[in-house]
Amino acid sequence: MTRAFDEDFAYRFATRTIHAGQRPDPTTGAIMPAIVQTSTYVQDGIGQNKGYEYARGKNPTREALERNVAALEGAKHGFAFSSGVGATDGILRLFNAGDHLVVGENVYGGTYRLMDKILTRFGLTFSFVDTRDPQQIEDAIQPNTKALFLETPTNPLMRLTDLAAAGEIAKRRSVLLIVDNTFASPYFQRPLEFGADIVFHSTTKYLNGHSDMIGGIVLLNDESLAVRLQFILNAGGANPGPMDSWLALRGTKTLALRMRQHDANGRQIAGWLAQRMGAERVFYPGLPSHPQHELARKQMSGFGGMISVETGSLANADKVLRGVKVFSLAESLGGVESLISHPASMTHASVELERRQRLGVTEGLIRLSCGVEDVEDLLADLEHAFSAI
Ligand SMILES: *Cc1c(COP(=O)(O)O)cnc(C)c1O
Repeated sequence: MTRAFDEDFAYRFATRTIHAGQRPDPTTGAIMPAIVQTSTYVQDGIGQNKGYEYARGKNPTREALERNVAALEGAKHGFAFSSGVGATDGILRLFNAGDHLVVGENVYGGTYRLMDKILTRFGLTFSFVDTRDPQQIEDAIQPNTKALFLETPTNPLMRLTDLAAAGEIAKRRSVLLIVDNTFASPYFQRPLEFGADIVFHSTTKYLNGHSDMIGGIVLLNDESLAVRLQFILNAGGANPGPMDSWLALRGTKTLALRMRQHDANGRQIAGWLAQRMGAERVFYPGLPSHPQHELARKQMSGFGGMISVETGSLANADKVLRGVKVFSLAESLGGVESLISHPASMTHASVELERRQRLGVTEGLIRLSCGVEDVEDLLADLEHAFSAI
């Protein structure tokens, strides 16, 4: 007997990661979803097809991924895109020239660049505010505001926005709440439960978890938004290929296992860094010294492997980055392997200096993406690298 896809929602999280959205192939019994590597589908006659016409519009491997991640976020609909930025661009195409959005000032550098350098040319306007303070969100809303666009925790300073408060404001002021949930993953945080209308991810990060593809995904419940987003995906063409969809789907199967280990390693390493450098220099929502630790415990069930630390100077940051052997110096995050990066010159290089300084992305700041290696090896690697400063 095969289960209907809506029955996926009856299961708990880890069971969903493995089974939701996919069924053994009815003709062969293949337990894993096929990589349906095709551009087009043969039709039986004029207007007669099996629901598939051309692969920009629909692809079965992509649909399996969309159903799977939708089930993890507790959403009815999922739309996979070619990258996280592609997903962001798709969401923002829901709006019209003249519309205004209130945006977290600390959003991903590529999100800011897309808004500031491209979409303003098409008549959208944005106010970037410190969304840690709900009052600042409220005060930035204008008569033409159509959405609040947030990221929590933010990159790289791990600042939080109160999702319940933002959801309440969005509802009361009749604007959409859009949340980038890439850093927490649905294992630790599900913004739709707090009133978000649209949640999205760079699947490149924790969802895929193996640093071997680029992708994005949008999750939502509203039927009319779903119709419009499906239209944008097909009309805009930022769809992912079947191989990348399959890799992301393979990745989500171990999401629960990986997130537990990222979290365990993250907590230990953050604790060690706090002792070594002083708690005020370590940015990790799981530390009791984090100014929003209580909020983190309220809206997240764990804190993951992302940590930033202020080394004090560019020279110190450089020494640490050169001293590591297990951590690799690279952009990106959320993979099984530990990475270390320098936000000011890497992920935030496209952000103007003045703005970067205001956000606290200093020359001495380094960011760790703690992987799932043995934590003793990660700690020894950091002990060695930090001994140089
Ligand atoms: C990486 C990232 C993105 C962009 O995703 P890509 O897959 O690189 O296009 C957006 N938001 C956050 C928080 C990210 O970390």
